[in-house]
Amino acid sequence: MLKLENVQSGYGNILAVKGISLVVNQGEIITLIGANGAGKSTTLLTISGIVRCRSGKILLNNEEMHKMDTDTIVKKGVCQVPEGRHIFPQLTVKENLDMGAFLRNDTNQIKKDLDYVFSLFPILEERKHQYGGTLSGGEQQMLAMSRALMAKPDLLLLDEPSMGLAPLIIKQIFEIIKKINKESNTTIFLVEQNANQALQIADRGYVLENGKITISGSADSLLENQGVQKAYLGL
Ligand code: ATP
Repeated sequence: MLKLENVQSGYGNILAVKGISLVVNQGEIITLIGANGAGKSTTLLTISGIVRCRSGKILLNNEEMHKMDTDTIVKKGVCQVPEGRHIFPQLTVKENLDMGAFLRNDTNQIKKDLDYVFSLFPILEERKHQYGGTLSGGEQQMLAMSRALMAKPDLLLLDEPSMGLAPLIIKQIFEIIKKINKESNTTIFLVEQNANQALQIADRGYVLENGKITISGSADSLLENQGVQKAYLGL
């Protein structure tokens, strides 16, 4: 579904992603793990076209995604939940969700998808008239994910959904990521510092160090890899 071939990108004269190649197959959960500043967010921003790919290729179903603008990428079914959530604080929960469906006009299906996100996150239905900015961190993460789901993506890019959340909420968020993947057949590319939780739900993973992929394999093999255990799992 998604293929990165030797992708480089960065900011000004800083190269943050230094020639990475990876593959995401339809229906998978893939995680990209790495330390602070490894280039994880830049990789996601490059896939979604916000940071431009400087060399190499990004292919979405064999189409050259690195040449597309950001709204074409969204229309092609790729949606990103950014680090820090970036919900609309002065819009209500329901209005935030309506914004997610902004590019759609299939009114009946939109209503069904709204019911679906409320079934995933019942707290959002309870709080649908509350302003986004007044939600807790965990609720804002739920809202950011739900807003992205309202665009009905085929590929969901999640940037550190666990950041700053309490362990119980993190557990809940990861369970729901798995549920979204299974129930709505959404392919998931998950960037995480929380390597243990991410690898528990992923099919495969890549380790990013200083802008380069150093280890890749099945999630189980990464959980058992001594280098990964030492550097990212605290074992
Ligand atoms: P974190 O987990 O802390 O978010 P990360 O793995 O997502 O880290 P990036 O945010 O992609 O890493 O950062 C990779 C490199 O690019 C870092 O050296 C960072 O300082 C640099 N960088 C990130 N954003 C910018 C920017 N807007 N301008 C200049 N340099 C940036």
